[in-house]
Amino acid sequence: MSFREAIEREMAKQRRMQLATDEGRWRARKRFGQHFLEPAWADKVVDAIAPLPDDRFLEIGPGPGILTTRLASRVRELTAIEIDRDLAARLTPSLPPNARMLVADVLSVDLAPMTSDGPLRVAGNLPYYVSSPIIFKLIESARRTRAIPDATVMLQLEVAERLIATVGTADYGVLAILTQLHADVTRVLTLPPGAFRPMPKVRSAVVRLAFRPPAVDIGDQTTFERLVRTIFTQRRKTILNALRPFAEPLGRDPASALARAGIDSRRRPETLDLRELAALAQRLHEA
Ligand code: SAM
Repeated sequence: MSFREAIEREMAKQRRMQLATDEGRWRARKRFGQHFLEPAWADKVVDAIAPLPDDRFLEIGPGPGILTTRLASRVRELTAIEIDRDLAARLTPSLPPNARMLVADVLSVDLAPMTSDGPLRVAGNLPYYVSSPIIFKLIESARRTRAIPDATVMLQLEVAERLIATVGTADYGVLAILTQLHADVTRVLTLPPGAFRPMPKVRSAVVRLAFRPPAVDIGDQTTFERLVRTIFTQRRKTILNALRPFAEPLGRDPASALARAGIDSRRRPETLDLRELAALAQRLHEA
């Protein structure tokens, strides 16, 4: 083999290796819910997040960093939490000095210490397989710390609709009630499947949760949450029948609790608004 042939062979090998690295870099792992945002949509999503120069941000699931780099360039400080250690290792060297990476499952991270230096805003294109537990974690962290003003997150459209659902609609249920108790929820952007690689089967939406003190006094939180979860597993029944599996094991009379809360026992669970659910939970707790 001539010297020239050897050089060309070596260059071809390096090109193949580079190609493999580039493809490998963005290869999505299904088990981590990876659907990467296309660059054409990234600026729209960052504008929807509406970052300000003095903000401190937590980004959940930075992946290859398409939102991370844009967001970091517009805020004071950013912490990214990524579960996939390979993606995190690739992204970390290109992070600007005001951004840091935590390799962890966001569900196992205590967010409270991150709020000790001031308010922490949250953003992320969430992994859809675990988006509801992440939302509940954010609500709980915001409630406990009172230092998380908002979370702007990408969700599958169906989940977004369940978050913003109003009383009396088919989507109204546990997710809407437990979220709207603690946050004003608005949809800020809708995206087609083609906005991601690989394409998910569903449409997506960016939703903002603006956290605030509870909309109504629910009394005992555990009673309220258990009540809501129980009656909405039986939403076709009347509220009287849907309430029985919750009230009777506690030795409470469901008909009398409903009467004392001023609720007609023939109504369906999905017709009860936050104020009525709170009144019912309080009557059941005190009975
Ligand atoms: N932000 C990137 C984008 O918009 O292209 C990636 C979004 S992708 C839908 C979700 C990201 O969350 C992936 O990078 C995935 O590895 C990460 N992820 C999945 N489960 C996670 C968890 N429990 N904690 C932290 N990150 C997680």
